[in-house]
Formats: sequence, structure tokens, C-alpha cells
Amino acid sequence: MSSPQFDLVIVGCGLYGATVAQHYIEKNRRVLILEKRPHIGGNVYTESIDGIPIHRYGAHIFHTSNEKVWQYINRFATFNHFVNRPKVRYQDRLFSFPINLMTLYQLWGVQTPEDAKAKLESVQIPHPAPQNLEDWILAQVGDELYQIFIRGYTQKQWNRPPKNLPAFIIKRLPIRLTYDDNYFTDRFQGIPIGGYTPMIEKMIQGAQVQLNVDYLKDKPHYDSLAPHILFTGPIDAYFNTQFGPLAYRSLRFETQHLPIPDFQGNAVINYTDPTVPFTRIIEHKHFDQLGPEPLSPTTVITTEYPQDWTPKVEPYYPINDTENNALYQKYKALAQSEPKVHFGGRLAEYRYYDMHQVIASAMSWAQKQLQ
Ligand code: FAD
Ligand code: UDP
Repeated sequence: MSSPQFDLVIVGCGLYGATVAQHYIEKNRRVLILEKRPHIGGNVYTESIDGIPIHRYGAHIFHTSNEKVWQYINRFATFNHFVNRPKVRYQDRLFSFPINLMTLYQLWGVQTPEDAKAKLESVQIPHPAPQNLEDWILAQVGDELYQIFIRGYTQKQWNRPPKNLPAFIIKRLPIRLTYDDNYFTDRFQGIPIGGYTPMIEKMIQGAQVQLNVDYLKDKPHYDSLAPHILFTGPIDAYFNTQFGPLAYRSLRFETQHLPIPDFQGNAVINYTDPTVPFTRIIEHKHFDQLGPEPLSPTTVITTEYPQDWTPKVEPYYPINDTENNALYQKYKALAQSEPKVHFGGRLAEYRYYDMHQVIASAMSWAQKQLQ
């Protein structure tokens, strides 16, 4: 029998696959990456229009408090000093967001942390043990803020009543009684100068990459190429959805190149009104063109429309409710019967991971394998 051509076949060239590939290459291992899409990078893929990196799959802002992850990723990119300070558009009003003292001033006229705290306490709807998203947020901010900032956006994003969603989804967002409007609370934040694609290119340098290849369409052949497989696609698809499909939420991105220098004056504006069919508009140059230079004469915006997932569209978000988590556990148990295959990343672990969590998880697995 001839020896396998590679030490590892990696299915999916997103951040999980790229991080593992980089660790293997550094230790002189032979890596083959298979990617279904026509490009590398998975959901962090960026491509240039008029010199502006366009986030093809929605805004990607890197943030972490994990020093090891931050040091690691800085080996492959120089990060700018972008800080995410989105705004909310509700009907004809514009608000500071995430909810902070400026938001409460715009809504109620309160100016000090003490006044804001007293006002919030007067509107909170207490709950002894809030489990779902709606009960949790009502207990924090009451009904008026819930209606303006959360209910419409969440219903559109998930196509489920907020009462049927887990609270962890909303606990991602800070609520502050200061004027700090940073969307994230992490120590490090920024966007790679030049975009994410050159960063991924650097990470996978030395790997063999095949694009437009669906591993599941010729699994026995690819399995024969290496003693180990890393699978970063949807875990239910790997097992031919034998227990039934896991639920995902998808998005449709509508990108426009406009002949004006500035469309909205900010990188991200959320549209929380339930009658508006999209959730946010991002203007790519504001992720990239920081500082005093004059803005370039044209601009690119992307409008994000949530949509149901079907096998024909990308599964962007796992829906981690009780039912789907239980179904995932069945697939996870089945994965134990595949000792040659490791399942990693947002889709294979069915977890609402951010980029830094994906990198941390991939680093930890790769380091263990390479000990
Ligand atoms: P993916 O990037 O999904 O990569 C998996 C790859 O596997 C894909 O390229 C897919 O095509 C490929 N694949 C699947 N099946 C097969 C197959 N059978 N054969 C071959 N290839 C296959 N995180 C942040 O930290 N900050 C943000 O601001 C942020 N914003 C986000 C905005 C949106 C709209 C979304 C959807 C996510 C956002 N994230 C953000 C999360 C971030 O995108 C993920 O954490 C990260 O990209 C996941 O990496 P991954 O490698 O696990 O998965
Ligand atoms: N959310 C909301 N209003 C907003 C922004 C977010 O209600 O203006 C809720 C919504 O349920 C969303 C969750 O908060 O799914 C997490 O928001 P985040 O911006 O972190 O989502 P992502 O960038 O991962 O799509």
C-alpha cells in the first residue's frame, strides 16, 4: 500500500481550517485544504473594490481579550485601530448603540449614571430566573427600550419570537451607564489593514489548496489521501442529516457601489424597526479609512437581509435553542465513531463562535495533535 500523500486533509478554508493549517505547516506537515467556495477565508473573506476591502459575508470586527490569540493573529496581519460604534435607526430616529448613557439621554434626557440607574430601575420588569431572551432583556431595560432596540431586530434576525430564543444571544451586547459606546468589552480590537484575505493567504502559505471542491461529494477518495481529516463544515451534513437537519439562519447580502464619497458616515447602522426588512447597512470604507485623509470619491455599502436557511444558501448562524442543541448532541455522539475525523469550527461544533474563539479552539486542537 502506498503511504498517504498528506498528513492532514482540512475540509473548509475558514479561520478554523487556516489556523490548524498554519500550525501543521510550521511543523513541516503536509496539508491539503479543500474548499467548496471559489475562494479562501470562509466567512471572513474580503475582496477589494476601488482599494477598499469589502467584507463579503458581513462586517467582521476582530476583538479579543485572549492575549495569546491576539499575539498569534498579529503575526499574519497589521491591525488598524477600528472600534465598533454602531448606531440604531428606529422609525425616523437615530440612537447611540449599544445601550449606553448617550442612548438613555437621547431617549429620556437623563445625563448622569445615577439618574440613568434610577430611571432604568423604575422600568425594569423583574424576573426571578430569566431563561429566554425576552425575559432577560425586559429584566434589564424594561419594555420601551426592548421595543425600540431589541424586539424588531431580533424577530427579523432569527424569525422566532424572542421568548423562544436563548438569553445568551443578547448577553453578547453590553448595557452601560457610562458614555462608552464601544460595541465590545475586549482588550484588543481592530481590522486587518488590507482586509482578511491577505491574512488568511499568509496563514496557509505552504498548504496545497483546492477550491470549488465539495469533500462530501468524493469522500472516500479524499479520505484516502491522509490518515487524519479535519472537517469544518456542518456536522449534520457530514452525517447525511440522518437524524434530521439542524436549524441554521441565513442572510442575503445586497452590495451597492455608489458614486458618492459617504453614504451614512459610520461603518454600521442597525435598523431595528420590524417594518424594515433588513437588519443593518454597513459602509465598508469606514472600517478601513480611519483618520484625517479625504474620503475616496465612491463608496460601497452592503445591506443585510436575514433569510431562512435552505440547502441552497449558506448556513451562517447555528440556532442554539434546546431542541437543536439536543439534536447536535446526537450528531456529536456519532462523531465519536469517526476516530480519524476531527470536527471543529462554527458549523462543525454548532456554536455561535466569534473569530477569536474559533482561533483559540483551533490552536488548542492543533497544538495537542502536534505535541
Ligand atoms: P467558516 O468561515 O464558515 O468556514 C467553513 C468553511 O468550510 C466554509 O468556507 C465552507 O464553504 C467550507 N465547507 C463547508 N462544507 C464543506 C465541504 N463539504 N467541502 C468543502 N468545504 C466545505 N466574528 C467576530 O469575531 N466578529 C465579527 O464582527 C463577526 N461578524 C460576523 C458577521 C456575520 C454576518 C457572520 C455570519 C459571522 C460573524 N462572525 C464574527 C463570526 C465569524 O464569521 C466566525 O466565527 C468564523 O468565520 C468561523 O470560522 P470557521 O472556520 O469555523 O467557519
Ligand atoms: N440585537 C438587537 N438589536 C440590535 C443588535 C443586536 O436586538 O440592534 C440582538 C439580536 O438578537 C442579535 C443579537 O443581539 O442576534 C447579537 O447581536 P450581534 O450584533 O452580536 O450579532 P451578530 O453580529 O453576530 O450578527
